[in-house]
Amino acid sequence: MTRFYVVGNLKMNMLSREEASQYLTVLRRESSSKRYAYVTGIIAPSFLYSAQFDDLPKSIKKGAQNMFPEKSGSYTGEISPLMLKNDGVEYVIIGHSERRLYAGETDELIHEKLLSVLKYYMIPIVCIGETRAQREAGKAEQIITGQIRTLFSDLSKLQAEKVIIAYEPRWAIGTDILPTTSEIAEVRMIVRQVLTEMFDTATEERIAVLYGGSVKSSLLPQVAFETGMEGVLVGRESLFPYELVKMMNLFEEEAIRRSKI
Ligand code: PEP
Repeated sequence: MTRFYVVGNLKMNMLSREEASQYLTVLRRESSSKRYAYVTGIIAPSFLYSAQFDDLPKSIKKGAQNMFPEKSGSYTGEISPLMLKNDGVEYVIIGHSERRLYAGETDELIHEKLLSVLKYYMIPIVCIGETRAQREAGKAEQIITGQIRTLFSDLSKLQAEKVIIAYEPRWAIGTDILPTTSEIAEVRMIVRQVLTEMFDTATEERIAVLYGGSVKSSLLPQVAFETGMEGVLVGRESLFPYELVKMMNLFEEEAIRRSKI
């Protein structure tokens, strides 16, 4: 069965509890009457407001933007997987390019985080993607292949199939510059190939791959429906609940259309 994901990464936005609560009021209003058979919405707020996001509409799950791999201890300023789990978080974004850029995260550390998210029965949404310079040097395939191989190393098939991958070319994040439909489809194929080599076709088919980078509802055909991607990771536009719900609606319509073919 087709299953799509719409992930809203709220990043370091909303500067007070009041702002977070206004956002939630609008989100609840926009999605109150909607039911989805094929789409899961996920919202990752700042840790500070996580408790306010307990009472989300049924079709939208609570996510987190990052996590430290250790369960507890002397790790000043960090958030543990068990804290997230106990707070009702179901999905954790890891390896976002902004974490790689500003916090120096490597594929090796992200791999550790991925194992830890799985250990505490949450779903990792792991970000991969090349820089503009890497793409221009013809190295996109090599970078993506290397990232997948490191991130999925030592995972069992059962663990691997729980992971959601978000392909986010770094140069498309926050820039309104998009890869072409065929560039996205090509990456989808590369990811499929590597996962099939590492596991098998049945496992690979269960791993959802999303696209992220300057997504808006009007771009879904170009970045998702025509590329084989199973959803989107959304930054700026997720700050508008109306847009987020619209994307969920469009994916639901697309899934229904496909079910009739
Ligand atoms: C992101 O940061 O994951 C992202 C996709 O951002 P934006 O949609 O704003 O490009």
